[in-house]
Amino acid sequence: MQSCPIKTRFAPSPTGLMHLGNLRTALFNLLLARGPAGGCFVLRIEDTDRERSSAWAATALMQELLWLGLDWDEGPQRAGPGGPWRQSERAALYAELYPRLEQSRQAYPCFCSDRELQYQREAQLAARQPPRYLGTCRRLTDAEIRARRGRGERPTLRFRVPAGRTVVYSDLVRGEQHAATDEFGDFIIRRADASAAFLFCNAVDDALMGITHVLRGEDHLANTPRQLLLLEALGLRAPRYGHLPMIVGLDGAPLAKRHGSRSVAALREAGYLPGALLNYLARLGHAYGDIGLQGLKELAYAFEVQRIGRSPAHFDPQQLDYWQQQAVADAPAAVLETWLGGARVPAEQRRRFVEVLRANVRFPNELQDWAERIYGSLPPPDESAREILRGAGAEFFETALHLVDEDGGLSLQRLRQVTGLRGRSLFLPLRLALTGEPHGPELAGLLMLMSPQRLRERLRRAGELARTR
Ligand code: GLU
Repeated sequence: MQSCPIKTRFAPSPTGLMHLGNLRTALFNLLLARGPAGGCFVLRIEDTDRERSSAWAATALMQELLWLGLDWDEGPQRAGPGGPWRQSERAALYAELYPRLEQSRQAYPCFCSDRELQYQREAQLAARQPPRYLGTCRRLTDAEIRARRGRGERPTLRFRVPAGRTVVYSDLVRGEQHAATDEFGDFIIRRADASAAFLFCNAVDDALMGITHVLRGEDHLANTPRQLLLLEALGLRAPRYGHLPMIVGLDGAPLAKRHGSRSVAALREAGYLPGALLNYLARLGHAYGDIGLQGLKELAYAFEVQRIGRSPAHFDPQQLDYWQQQAVADAPAAVLETWLGGARVPAEQRRRFVEVLRANVRFPNELQDWAERIYGSLPPPDESAREILRGAGAEFFETALHLVDEDGGLSLQRLRQVTGLRGRSLFLPLRLALTGEPHGPELAGLLMLMSPQRLRERLRRAGELARTR
């Protein structure tokens, strides 16, 4: 293990596609680790829930992280000590720790069946009490335990929560927190099939991996005092915890598809650039001030835990698209060229094409539409376009047609001189004639993309349309 003054981690459960919520958690942890003080970012795969976890999801998660440039210093696919990094491969490490708690009676076997527990929970809820384990197996004698094991019953292992204490800790985001231990029941740390339970392996691994700071979703807030007690009982060092407010839709409800939220994979497929997602998410619940589009390194240098907000962060798809626009403006031309795919842009014009169009597109499909518009065929004009063409008059297009030069294409300056037109009355009909659209990229750039033959063809067509009623 490297020695790191700050060591953070992302600990996803590989149960499905990565969403914006867990991506933001990963990003905040990475930004905290890569600040000026220097540190390490660890990736740990929490796959102890065998039914819901899959190797496929773990691989997909790692691919998404790498696509976004969120590479980890320690974790799967990295050489070096400190692993294994998948919890499913750490059973032996956990098995060494349980006896410590059993011998000191800080943990005890529990034989309650799922049905009994369910029944207790329902009764408590009906009585408007918070559901918690009632301690049925807390006082079983060694003889009773032996007898029940002898009958083939397989117990879970529960942590004995000390009575009458208040756990106090300072949350990195929410400040000082107090939790009375009498309010939570003893909790399971090993399942009946001998696999480690979440509360246990999640806390233990943070300690064993030397994690110093944990930023995670507020949905884990109730786990923290329990995990602090557990680590204390094991004599292991706890990280500092910080709980991030949830991401909600603009209506304040938990983030869902209807708010425009999609999986990271779906956003990637739609053409969102890593820089757009990172810049947007870095600001979702963290105040950066007015610093514009930044790389990860700059975002990390300006990241401060004190700047994380305490109220829910509202996901706004328009803001995400704003950052997409910034990222497109900043993207290397080669990246935008890949957006063209099989579009019919001549090879020698691809670079120029993306440079002319970059200010007008945000996504690959928009760039491809422009390629079709410029190099393919134009859709029939609607009535308002026809009106503008008629207003300009067939003569205007004939004049332009005659100015098309075999070597230099069409010079806007010459057209201005010859027709005496300028501004909108010159550009609008010309733009409509050449692209069928009233808006679009700068005309001079557009003219450079069109061969004299295509220019003539489109001007001729516009002239004909101007003549028809
Ligand atoms: N595997 C847990 C989750 O995905 C990790 C919680 C934590 O970050 O501590 O929610």
